[in-house]
Amino acid sequence: MPASSSPAFLSPEPGSSSSVFLPGVWSHSGPASDLVIRSDDGVDFHVHKDIMSMVSPVFKSMLQSYEDRLDLPDSKKVLDSIIYLIYFPAYAHERQLRTSADLDGIWEVHQATRKYELTGPRRILEYLLLDPALVQAHPYRLFATARLCTIPQLDMQAAMFTLEHPVCPPLSKFPELWHLPAEAFHNIYGFHHLCSERAEKVVEQTMSWRREKRLDDGVGTNRLFVWWQLQGGGHTDGCGAIVKDYAAGGHIQREMIPAEWFRRHIEAVALSVKGTPSANAAEEAALEVSPSGAAAISRCSACHQFASMDLEDYARQLRRAVEQSNDAVWKGL
Ligand SMILES: [Zn+2]
Repeated sequence: MPASSSPAFLSPEPGSSSSVFLPGVWSHSGPASDLVIRSDDGVDFHVHKDIMSMVSPVFKSMLQSYEDRLDLPDSKKVLDSIIYLIYFPAYAHERQLRTSADLDGIWEVHQATRKYELTGPRRILEYLLLDPALVQAHPYRLFATARLCTIPQLDMQAAMFTLEHPVCPPLSKFPELWHLPAEAFHNIYGFHHLCSERAEKVVEQTMSWRREKRLDDGVGTNRLFVWWQLQGGGHTDGCGAIVKDYAAGGHIQREMIPAEWFRRHIEAVALSVKGTPSANAAEEAALEVSPSGAAAISRCSACHQFASMDLEDYARQLRRAVEQSNDAVWKGL
């Protein structure tokens, strides 16, 4: 079996023969093996009764009849992985899962750790799967793995990372897909869709945020965001907020409208967040002013002085608001 098709924490040189002896101390200077574990595809693993009984109550119970060989309903690949996790936990812990190929068969290994009540190996696996860099790179695949293995923390983490990508069907075919109920994918698409809708509304509502709020020190300032300061109050060339009168219900109503460059900026942020509704993406979009917006800011002395500072505060607040909105969607599912 080529090493590239095996999970990354498999023994470094997986045996290709039908008999696997543990490398290093266990097969040479360590005690001789006294138990053979045979995979469903006919590969024998030479291990130790004491060790298998110690790490797994299920093995302990199976070995009470003092058998010398256990025929297990698991593949060579799964057994290779769990035995590696049992015998070399420190090495396994240091391994990293990076590529899509690293994830092949992981869910079956995890299910085996549950079946045999291998608590330590299961924790190592979950630690490796929860690596944010891995989840960020393969959010749909990790979501499927989380559902198949029932790992709620990974479930939520993966779902949140899907929001960093525009929603699309998982065109890349991966094996987990065939074992997952269609309902799970409806859930994840529904989650993405709801987050998009709500995040867009959140952004629209931020149009009315008037004041700079310092989140880090909790001290507010009375200065309005620069885009809410009225025309003439330090702005140049017709820049700044305006007051508009309009008739409604027989009365004249007054409405304040922020500087034009900001209105256009918010429209762009709302559109961006609709596609990728993660808190990260929202913050980035809020900080990325279009070339025409940047030109308007640089033409105005007030905006030139305050816009970038105010946008940073605005972006941090928006990040929090979108994060809360997405959390609420997740909890409501
Ligand atoms: Zn201005």
